[in-house]
Amino acid sequence: MSTDLEQAIADNLARVRERIAAAEARYGRPPGSVALLAVSKVQGAERVAAAYAAGQTAFGESYVQEALDKQAALAALPLEWHFVGRIQTNKTRDIAAHFDWVHGLCELKHARRLGAQRPATAVPLPVCIQVNLSGEASKAGVEPAALGELIDACRAVAGITVQGLMTLPAPADDLAEQRRPFADLRALRDRLATPVQPLATLSMGMTADLEAAVAEGATMVRIGTAVFGPRPNMQRR
Ligand SMILES: *Cc1c(COP(=O)(O)O)cnc(C)c1O
Repeated sequence: MSTDLEQAIADNLARVRERIAAAEARYGRPPGSVALLAVSKVQGAERVAAAYAAGQTAFGESYVQEALDKQAALAALPLEWHFVGRIQTNKTRDIAAHFDWVHGLCELKHARRLGAQRPATAVPLPVCIQVNLSGEASKAGVEPAALGELIDACRAVAGITVQGLMTLPAPADDLAEQRRPFADLRALRDRLATPVQPLATLSMGMTADLEAAVAEGATMVRIGTAVFGPRPNMQRR
C-alpha cells in the first residue's frame, strides 16, 4: 500500500508524462523522444524515493552538499544524478565524482577541472553547455558568439564529453515568447553540430514552459515543481 506522499508524487509524475506525450504528439515529435529529468533540489530524500517508486530514475540537483546527503540516504537505489546548478570552482571535485551528468557548464576552467577530477574508473562525464540567450534569468551561460570556441576547447578535454546545449531563459507568459529562446538554442545547435560532435541533447524546458521547449526540439526537460510540488524554500544551502 502506498502512502499519501507516494500517491501524490505518482499522480504528479503521471500528469507530467501526459504533458510531455501530448506536446510530442502536437508538435510532431516522436513518442518517447523527450526525456524527463525530475529536479529534486530542496526536496527531501523521501520525495525522491517516492518518485523512484513511480518509475522515475533521473534526478537533478543544484546544491552539491544537499545532493551528496541525499545520494547517501538513497544509495541503495539505482538513481542517475544530474547537476543542474551553478558550478563553483571549489565544488568541481565532488561534482566530477558524484554526478552522472552536468548541465550548465559555461567556463573552460570548470570543464578542465571536471575532466581532470573525474575518477579514472568512471565513464567520461556527459556535459551540456549552458548558453545565455536573451533575458537569461540566472545571467549564467556562454554568449552565443563564444559557444563554438568553447565547444571546440571542451572537445580537447579528457574526462568529459559534450553531449549538447542547455538554456534557462527568463520566465515568459505566452507560448510564442517562451518558444523564442528555445528556437534560438536549437538554431545554434543546428549550426554548430558536426558528425563527430552532434550536440544531440537539448536540455530545455521547466514546469512553466515544458510545451514550448518540446515544440522547439528539447530532448530533456528539467521539471521540479510539477513533479514534487512547490519547493519548501528557495534558500541556498
Ligand atoms: C529548479 C530548476 C528547474 C526546475 O524548475 P521548475 O520550474 O520547478 O520545474 C529546472 N532547471 C534548473 C536549472 C533549475 O535550477
